[in-house]
Order: sequence, then structure tokens, then C-alpha cells
Amino acid sequence: MTLFTSQNFTNFNNNQELIQQRTIKHTVSCQGQGLHTGCQVKMTLKPAPPNSGIRFRRIDLSEFEIPASIEYVAKVAYATTLMRLGVMVATVEHLLSALAGCQIDNCIVELDSLEVPIMDGSAGEFINLIKSADIIEQSAKRVCLKVLEPIEVSDGNRWIKIEPAQALSINSTIDFSHPLIGRQEFNYQFSFSSYIKEIALARTFGFVKELDALRKAGLIRGGSLENAIVLTEDGLMNSEGLRFVDEFARHKVLDILGDLALAGRPIIGKVTAERSGHALHAQLVSQLLRNPNSWQLVEQSNLQLAVGR
Ligand SMILES: [Zn+2]
Repeated sequence: MTLFTSQNFTNFNNNQELIQQRTIKHTVSCQGQGLHTGCQVKMTLKPAPPNSGIRFRRIDLSEFEIPASIEYVAKVAYATTLMRLGVMVATVEHLLSALAGCQIDNCIVELDSLEVPIMDGSAGEFINLIKSADIIEQSAKRVCLKVLEPIEVSDGNRWIKIEPAQALSINSTIDFSHPLIGRQEFNYQFSFSSYIKEIALARTFGFVKELDALRKAGLIRGGSLENAIVLTEDGLMNSEGLRFVDEFARHKVLDILGDLALAGRPIIGKVTAERSGHALHAQLVSQLLRNPNSWQLVEQSNLQLAVGR
């Protein structure tokens, strides 16, 4: 499927400094557990050439590749899972979020099992890994998908929309009747430094009352207090407490950024979401890409990135 043709490519940033694509300089690895499978997995990040995007590679299955692209989204319940020709890579969203947060355009992600390791339930350890690999600029300019008209998708009282804007921002509201959550909103203006400070460390969360049902459904076999905030009726089980009072809404922003990366390019637009989840995020990306009038490709300028990259 060719999503991007020369017709919808416009360069109107003639007088501004353009941003180069980025990859990592060195190969780096980490070891962890899959949240849903419970399997031990080794993940290796490798440099990749310009315009190749983020590609998962199953080294336990003859190096089978699955590009991080919306066309390979297979499952969106409790995590975002990709599948190509029957081969899966599960729970990709936190790693994709970390790569997007670090503005990595091109990277090979090797896995020796079917799920990206959950680490501590946030993107913090992925950020450390990416930083330790050294981020480098490449010869090609970064091409972004700039939103030209609003697109909204909804499911009952859950919705997410994207509208034209000069840079990427994500406003997410969640609403849970729990004393530690309630109605929580986080407003995020994209930049590398704001991602590290505000978003990367926010952990995924779950409710004790749902754990049994999830386990029975074959999910969260690797779930523990080391990789998720676990909420009881009126508090939480993690002795270290929360990292931010609004950690839940921040984590939702983390998830949205990771799922938006399935567009295959950075998006320039204003995202607003209420009670959204992986299914709606994936739906938004595919709706957007299916409407060629609603976006155009532009080389990214420094003005389309907030300060502090
Ligand atoms: Zn998440």
C-alpha cells in the first residue's frame, strides 16, 4: 500500500531550517518480560537507513520483519499488537512512544519473542536505552504528515480528534470513578525535553478488580507491581506511590503518541482525546490516512518543533 505520493507532497518551508531524520549510532539491547505473554524477551535496537522507518524483526523467526505501520495493526485490546502474514509483535506502543519522543525516524527493533518487554510499565527505560545508543542525524530531511482538516472518531462517550496546528500537541482527558483518578486532564506540547520530563516516566495502570478477568483472558501473565500501577477500591498497591498525581492522564498521552507513530511518520496536528484507548487511536490514524485531502506531507522545519529538541 503506497500511502504517500508526490502529489500530496508540498514544501512550504523554504525559508526555515529543516530538520534531518534521526537514527541511533550504536546497537543496544535490554532484557525484560512481556506484560501479556509473561515471556522473557531480549530486545535490540539497531541503526537503520534514512526513510526506512521503525521496523520490528523477529530474530526467533528467521528475522521476519513487521514495519510499525497502521496496516499491520491486528489487535487493540489492552495493548497494540501488529501482525503480518500470521506473525505477531505485541505491546508495541510504549517503545514506539519512546522512539517518537526521542524523534527517532529510523530504527530496527529485534525481538527474540513475540512481545516488546514491558520494563517498568513506562517509557523511561527505553529512553535510557535510546540515549545510551547516541542519537544521530542522517542525510535525509524529516518528512511529516501535516493535518489539513479535522478528523474525529468516537465510540459512545469515548472519542479522539485531530485538527490542523503548527506543531504536535496532545490533550488527553480520562475519567475513572476512583479516588486517585477521577477526571484527569493532561495537556502536552511535543518536544524531546518535555517528553522526558512530563511523559516518559508515567506508568501503565490497572484495577485489582479486573485482574482475574484479564488473567482468565490470557492477558497480563507478566503483570506485577514492578511494571504497573495497581489500583485497589480506594488506593493503590504500589508501596512507592505515584510518580505524578496525574500519572494516569500522562500515561494516556504516552500511549497516544505511541499509537500515532503507526502513521509511519511524525504527525503535525492538535490531538484532543477523551476516555480514548488503543482501538480509537488506531482508528484515528487509519481514518486520517484514508482521507488524502485531510493531510499533506511536509519537510519539518524548526518552527514545527517546540524548543528544546
Ligand atoms: Zn500504555
